[in-house]
Amino acid sequence: MVQIRRWAGIATALLATELLVAGTAAHAAPAPDPVRVNVEDAVTAKLLGQARAATADHADESDTRVTVTRRAGGWAFGTAVTVTSHEEDIHPTGAVFIARAEAGTWRVNFDGEAGFSELAAESPLVNKQEKAVFARTPSTMQAGGDYRTGMALPFAVGQTWTMTSGPHGWGGYEAPYSSIDLAGGDQVVRAARAGTAYTMCTGWIRVIHDRGYSTDYYHLWSNISANGTAVGQGAYLGYTGTDVTCGGAASGRHVHFGLRQNSAYVSIAGHGLGKWEFANGASAYQGGARHGSAWVGAGGGLYNYGALGFNQAVVDANGGGTLTRRSGPGSGYGALGSVGDGATVTVSCSANGTSHTGRYGTTALWNRLSDGSWVSDAYLWTGVNGPINGWC
Ligand SMILES: [Zn+2]
Repeated sequence: MVQIRRWAGIATALLATELLVAGTAAHAAPAPDPVRVNVEDAVTAKLLGQARAATADHADESDTRVTVTRRAGGWAFGTAVTVTSHEEDIHPTGAVFIARAEAGTWRVNFDGEAGFSELAAESPLVNKQEKAVFARTPSTMQAGGDYRTGMALPFAVGQTWTMTSGPHGWGGYEAPYSSIDLAGGDQVVRAARAGTAYTMCTGWIRVIHDRGYSTDYYHLWSNISANGTAVGQGAYLGYTGTDVTCGGAASGRHVHFGLRQNSAYVSIAGHGLGKWEFANGASAYQGGARHGSAWVGAGGGLYNYGALGFNQAVVDANGGGTLTRRSGPGSGYGALGSVGDGATVTVSCSANGTSHTGRYGTTALWNRLSDGSWVSDAYLWTGVNGPINGWC
């Protein structure tokens, strides 16, 4: 008995010494600290905090799927998803995350957060392509009235698909109406713009683009298995389907396509994709999109014209017809011909001239096109209320 006690005493002493050494080492070396919290637990805690803040639902650990896809030297990278029940008008939510061991715990940032860009810049787990995409561009974004995305619709350019539902929430009826449902054509779902792709869940791909944007594609069949995979615009992501592995319901095959900016779903209305500007309806799943003067509502066909360049515009003659090209920035200048409603034009620079009123209001702004002729900004959709390529 005595001996056993004696050994126990030595063991306790050794343990105390080791703790002391570990503590000393932590003070001497700045990093990495011994991490006492499991990274999956740290990510889960952040995910649940967001889920509880966003909805009245009582999400718990059993609803979360944290997948660490890369891990090394005090860093971790992966996906974090909150699954939902298999009801209609519900979809799972989630994030791509980067975590770094800091002060005995994990700093966790989700894609789109400012801290995510900071961690991405330093992390050895993030490849060069991802670093380029994750870096923030200090441009004026949606909140500053810039609705350009540089995105095509998420299927092959030149095809017409049915917009089975107009703008609605990622989850269904909740605001913002970030999402649309599409089906048809060859049923191949493609990246709306270049970026890096991640499999969030079976059937769910997220592509992170430049300028703070990302796009989500859900219900896919035969989706790619992606973990930071570089994709070009139009790259295959999967087929439209009815997959509901992580929640929700799908009565017929389609892609539930959502637009995100800076770590949150944003209203797709006002944004340009495939040279269509989306608009909300009186309620979720209604609404539609406009290309020039052509309007397509839910249930109609959307032709994918491809991405509108950042210095390009779609002619909107506000009722059809043509727009007169002039030799200078005003209606007093000579006519040089015309350009049709729905045509794409490239803007070289802008200047003030005579005022005109189009679909979006009255403006004195005129644009000099790449062919040297001028047109009023009142009859162009650019995604920006102002010059898109500087002043002349
Ligand atoms: Zn949908």
